[in-house]
Amino acid sequence: RYMTGHEIRESFLKFFESKKHTILPSASLIPNDPQLMFTVAGMVPFKPIFWGKIEPTYPRVATCQKCVRTVDIDNVGRTPRHHTFFEMLGNFSFGDYFKKEAIEWAWEYITEVLKIPEDKLWVSVYHDDDEAYEIWRNNVGISEKRIVRLGKDDNWWGPAGPTGPCGPSSEIFVDTGRTKDCPDVENCSPACDCGRFLEFWNLVFTEYNMDGDGNLTRLKKKNIDTGLGLERMAAIMQGVSSNFETDMFKPIVERIEGLLNVKYGVSDKSDVSIRVIADHSRAITFLITDGVLPSNEGRGYVLRRIMRRAIRHGSLLGSSKPFLYKIPEVVVVTLGDVYPEIKEKLSLVEEITLKEEERFLTTFESGTKRLWQIVEKKNRLDGEDLFLLHDTYGFHLELVEEIVAEKNLPLDKEGFKALMEQQRERARKAAGNVEYEKDSSRYRKAYEIIGGTKFVGYEKLTVKTKIA
Ligand code: ATP
Ligand code: MG
Ligand code: MG
Ligand code: MG
Repeated sequence: RYMTGHEIRESFLKFFESKKHTILPSASLIPNDPQLMFTVAGMVPFKPIFWGKIEPTYPRVATCQKCVRTVDIDNVGRTPRHHTFFEMLGNFSFGDYFKKEAIEWAWEYITEVLKIPEDKLWVSVYHDDDEAYEIWRNNVGISEKRIVRLGKDDNWWGPAGPTGPCGPSSEIFVDTGRTKDCPDVENCSPACDCGRFLEFWNLVFTEYNMDGDGNLTRLKKKNIDTGLGLERMAAIMQGVSSNFETDMFKPIVERIEGLLNVKYGVSDKSDVSIRVIADHSRAITFLITDGVLPSNEGRGYVLRRIMRRAIRHGSLLGSSKPFLYKIPEVVVVTLGDVYPEIKEKLSLVEEITLKEEERFLTTFESGTKRLWQIVEKKNRLDGEDLFLLHDTYGFHLELVEEIVAEKNLPLDKEGFKALMEQQRERARKAAGNVEYEKDSSRYRKAYEIIGGTKFVGYEKLTVKTKIA
C-alpha cells in the first residue's frame, strides 16, 4: 500500500519534530510583505528572521506551507509537476544547524522514513560549493556519479522578491526512469531537462543578503531553508507519473470527469484541460479563502486570470455553462481537514466563482468569435485588437496569447500596453475633473423637506463599552 498525501505531510512534520523542530501552522497565501504578491515558498513568513530584522522565537521550525506561484501558470497542465497552488514542506534553521545536519536529515528522511531506494536518488550542488559536495560524498556516501555541480540558474535560491536573504542550494532528484523524451540518454543527469530526473527537494543554505543592485553581503547568521513539494512526493511514493494522478487530485479529477462528461487519460489535449481545471480549482479555493477577490489589478487580477483560464479550458472540453463553482466542494474534501479555513469559506468561494463564470460566459462566445474573425482577416493581432478583446470581452492578454499560441501570430503587445496606459490616463483625468458641489443649496432644500436628523446612537446602542 502506498503513502497518502496526508501521511507524507504528517510523517515529514513528525520526523522534524523528532529533530527538535517546532511545528508551526501554514501562514496565509497573502504575505505580510510589500515585496511579494503571494507566499511563493515556505521561507516567506520567515524572511524577516533570515534577514536579521527580528529575533526568532524558535531556533528550528518545520512547516507545511500553502504556496502560490504565478511564474508557473503557463507550465500548469503541460508538465506533470507544476501547480499554481501547492503545499511546500520545509525545515528551517535560524542560525542554528547548517549544511551538515540539513543534508544528513534530508537523506535520513527520504531513505529511512520514506524508504526511497538510494540508487534512484541524485543530488546537485552549486558549482563551487565544495562543502556541500563533500558532505554528500563523505558523510552520506552517495556515489560521485550521482552528484552534479550546477550553476546559478539551478542551484542558487532567492531572494524571494527584489532583495533579501538568498544562498547556494543543493537539490534532490529521483530518477523516474522515463527516457523517452531524452535526446541523450547516455549522458542524462539532473542537468538535462528531459523530465527524467524529478526535482523534489531544495535545500537552501541561506547565508547572504542581496541588495537592490545585486550585491551580496554575508548575513550575521547562517540559516537553513528547505522546500519539499508535497504533491511531487506523493507522485513519487504512489508510483504515478504525474501529480494529478495522486490521491490528492483523484477526487478533483473525478469531479471534473463527471461534470464535463470527459475521461482523463484518453487524449493528450483534453488531459491538459483537465489538469488545468484541477489545478486552478485548488488555487481559486485557497486564494478566495485567504481574501483575494477577482479584479483587474494585482492579486485580484491573478485570480481572475486563473479563473478565466479554467473557464476557457472547460469550454475546450465542451462546456458552455458554469461548472467551475462545483469543484471547490471536492477541494474541501481533499484538504479541508488540514486547512479548515477552506471549509468555512466554501459557500463564499462557490458564490464568487459562479459570479465570475456567469460574467465571463456572457462575452466568452462572442469574444472568441471576434478573435478568430480578426485572425482570419489579417493573420496578426494589433494593439487595437488586443485592446478591444480586453476591454469589450474581458480577454486579457495572457488568455489571448494562450488561445492563439499554436498559430504563431505576431501580437503587438507594446501597442496594447500603450492603449491600456492611455485608458488609465483618461480615467485618472476624469476622476480629477469631478467638481464637488460648491453650492450647498440642494442640501439646504433637502433639509427643508425632510427636516434634520437626530443622532440616537447613545440611547439605542445596546453594546455596553467599558471605559477603562
Ligand atoms: P522546478 O525546477 O521543478 O520548477 P523549482 O526549482 O522552481 O522547481 P524550488 O523553488 O526549488 O522549485 O521549490 C522547492 C520545491 O517546491 C521544489 O523542489 C518542488 O518540489 C516544489 N515546487 C516548486 N514549484 C512548484 C510548483 N509550481 N508546483 C508544485 N511544486 C513545486
Ligand atoms: Mg520552478
Ligand atoms: Mg528547479
Ligand atoms: Mg529548485
